[in-house]
Amino acid sequence: MAFEGLGERLQATMDRIKSKGKVSEADVKVMMREVRLALLEADVNFKVVKQFISQVRERALGSDVMQSLTPGQQVIKIVKEELTELMGGENQKINLAQKPPTVIMMVGLQGAGKTTTAGKLALHLRKNYNKKPLLVAGDIYRPAAIDQLETVGKQIDIPVFNLGDKVKPQEIAEKALAHAKEEHLDTVIIDTAGRLHIDEDLMNELKDIKELSNPDEIMLVVDSMTGQDAVNVAESFNDLLDITGVTLTKLDGDTRGGAALSIRSVTEKPIKFVGVSEKMDGLESFHPDRMAQRILG
Ligand code: GDP
Repeated sequence: MAFEGLGERLQATMDRIKSKGKVSEADVKVMMREVRLALLEADVNFKVVKQFISQVRERALGSDVMQSLTPGQQVIKIVKEELTELMGGENQKINLAQKPPTVIMMVGLQGAGKTTTAGKLALHLRKNYNKKPLLVAGDIYRPAAIDQLETVGKQIDIPVFNLGDKVKPQEIAEKALAHAKEEHLDTVIIDTAGRLHIDEDLMNELKDIKELSNPDEIMLVVDSMTGQDAVNVAESFNDLLDITGVTLTKLDGDTRGGAALSIRSVTEKPIKFVGVSEKMDGLESFHPDRMAQRILG
């Protein structure tokens, strides 16, 4: 499970404090050092750690905590609240258009889980919002990406708009929107190309698609296993495309999970979903408070 290292480490520190009747300033200092190390080990961005520690320390040293009967528990509560805040406070739902169709553009690097997440989202929207989605095969460069989307579509019984790999993605997106209108499909989910690295061609293509499809949601898909890289990728995509939400995939894997803590504060964009398996039902809404609880164990 993600965060195991961080959770255990924080817990050990917390337990030591919990057993104390009173917390001194020196205790808080020792604890903050532990928390700091735990977060850095979990691959949380160092700037984020610095800010987090200073906020927790300030609150922990407040007179109401120091003088309370259960200072250790108070400090744990503060850490949990601040972790929750760091991850955006509350769950943010997917953006839907007032007037159909809703357009969702999936972006991210190759292998992050875009195509898989496109299918998962289609299923989520049909199940929970009674939507009629159309999946659009816009990743024409990765061999097998189109076939993969077709397979996903068949598996969950969602139509796939596919013009092969000879038509430009911009044109595919335009035609897909027209097709959705004709077929009364109210949600268009565009799978876009990913590369191994961010490059200018990719970004120009994505900007074009954004301009002509006017998406309600630009969903960045990032692989939680890539740690700090995931945060850098999120920052770059956000700078260039002004994303509206993030899905963090592969949280079921052996990830240290620091990305979940950093991405929100670095990009100021919410993590809306997490991927927890390869299967189509392996998508969960992201709840910062639950995640904070899980981190603390
Ligand atoms: P794309 O290149 O961004 O479209 O990535 P894909 O959708 O092809 O996903 C890459 C690999 O990651 C595939 O093998 C997926 O099954 C796998 N994958 C995607 N999301 C998750 C997830 O949440 N958990 C796990 N375990 N695997 C995932």
